[in-house]
Amino acid sequence: MADSRPNIIFIMSDDHAAHAMSCYGSRINRTPNLDRIAEGGMRFDNCFCTNSICTPSRAAILTGTYNHVNEVTTLATPMDNRLTTYPKLLQQSGYQTAIFGKWHLGTGPGHCPTGFDAWSVLPGQGLYHNPDFIFAGPGGGRRRTLQGYVTDLITDLTLEWLEARDRERPFCLMVHHKAPHRPWEPDEAHQHLYLNEQIPEPETLFDDYSDRASAAEAAEMRVGVHMDFRDVKCEISPGLSEHELRRWGYQRYIKDYLRVVAGIDDSVGRLLDYLEAEGLTEDTLVIYTSDQGFFLGDHGWYDKRFMYEESLRMPLILRYPREVASGSINDDIVLNVDFPLLFLDVAEVDAPDGMQGRSFRSQLHGETPADWRQALYYRYWMHKAHHNVYAHYGVRTKRHKLIYYYADALGQAGAIDESYTPEWELFDLERDPYELHNVYSDPAYADTVPALTELLHQLQADVGDTRYALDVD
Ligand code: CA
Repeated sequence: MADSRPNIIFIMSDDHAAHAMSCYGSRINRTPNLDRIAEGGMRFDNCFCTNSICTPSRAAILTGTYNHVNEVTTLATPMDNRLTTYPKLLQQSGYQTAIFGKWHLGTGPGHCPTGFDAWSVLPGQGLYHNPDFIFAGPGGGRRRTLQGYVTDLITDLTLEWLEARDRERPFCLMVHHKAPHRPWEPDEAHQHLYLNEQIPEPETLFDDYSDRASAAEAAEMRVGVHMDFRDVKCEISPGLSEHELRRWGYQRYIKDYLRVVAGIDDSVGRLLDYLEAEGLTEDTLVIYTSDQGFFLGDHGWYDKRFMYEESLRMPLILRYPREVASGSINDDIVLNVDFPLLFLDVAEVDAPDGMQGRSFRSQLHGETPADWRQALYYRYWMHKAHHNVYAHYGVRTKRHKLIYYYADALGQAGAIDESYTPEWELFDLERDPYELHNVYSDPAYADTVPALTELLHQLQADVGDTRYALDVD
C-alpha cells in the first residue's frame, strides 16, 4: 500500500523579519507568494527563537534541543553531525529527504549534512552571485561554482530534485535560502524596485538608548553609523550627523533588503506553482520561516542577537489543507525547538526523549492544550563578537520580558573574553511594545520582578541550563 503520510517542505530564509511580510501587516513591502501560504493555512504570531543567531537556531530546529544541549552556542561551534535530527528519523521511517541552500553548521568531516538522500549546500554564509555549492559526495562533498543568483539556484536545485523524486514515497525537503542575509545583494530582476520611493521609517529609528541597560548603547549595529561599503554599496558621506546617517543609511539598507526579499517571494511562488501543477498541495505541509528575526532600522539597528522583539520573533506560516483551516491565526508561544516535534508528529514517527520542544499539532486544529507553555527561555551566548552585543538570557511571557545581561564570554568559542558588571532589564510589553523603558527598578513592578526572576530560573533549570554565578535570588 502506498505511504499516505504527508510531504513536508520546510522553507527557511536567513534573517527575514516578520515585519517585512505583508501577511504580518508589513508597512514597507508586499510578499504575495508568502501570503498564499498564510491565507491558505495558519499564521503564528508568537513564534520565537531560543538564540537569535544563524548557526544555533538551525541546530535547535534540526535537533529540537537548546544550544547548551546541542553545544551549538555560537557561530564558531559547528554541529556534530552524529546528533539525532528529525530528517534522520524521517529518513529511517521511509521518507525521501533532501536539503538545498544554506547549512551553516559546518561542512568539514563530522559536520557536513547527514540524514539526507540528497544535499547541496553553500559553504558558510554563501555568496549571492555565482556562488559555490558543496554537493554530496565522498569525503564530505565536492565544491563547484554555479552561475547565477543564489535564490534562483537553490530553487532550481529544489525543483530538479522534486521532478526526479520517487512518487510512491513521501518526502521531507528543506529549502534554505541565503537571502536576505547581509550584505543584501539583489538580482537584476529586483534591483530597480523602490528606486524613487521613500520607505516608511520605523518608530524607533532614532532611539537614544536612554532608560535601558548599557548593552543597547554599546551595540555596534546602527544603520548608517556602523555600516560599510558592502552594506550601502557606495561611499559613506563624511560630515553627516548621527541622525542624518541613520536616516540615509536606513533607506540604502532597507531597499536592498526588501529587493532581496522580493526575490525569495518570487521563488516561493515558483515552488507553490509546482506543487499545484503536480497535485501535491493537499498532501503537503508547507512551512515558511526564518532562523530568527532582524532589526529593520528598529532601535536604529540592523542585525539581530538581542532578545528584543524584532530579533526574537520568527515568522512562521504554514499550509496543510488536510488539517489546517485556511486563514487561521494562532498566538500561542511556539519555539524553534518545537518544529521537529511537529514534523515527526504529522509523519507518525515517535519523537526521541531527548528532544526538548513540543509538537504544536493541536494548534493546527485550532486547539491549545491546557498545559501549553506561557513563557519562553532565551539565551544569547556569543558575547561581544561582531556587533558588541553582550551575552544575556531572559524570559518572555505574553505581557513581560525580563533580560539579564551577564556580559561574560564564559569561554564560548567565538565570544570575546572581556566581562562587565551584569545588568537587568524589564519591559512591560503591553504598555511599552517598543521596549524603550526599562521598568526593572520601578516600584510599580516590585512584585513582578521577583516573580519573573523565579520563573526565569525555573525555566532555565527545566531545560538543564546553568545560571550565571553572579545571578542569585
Ligand atoms: Ca540568520
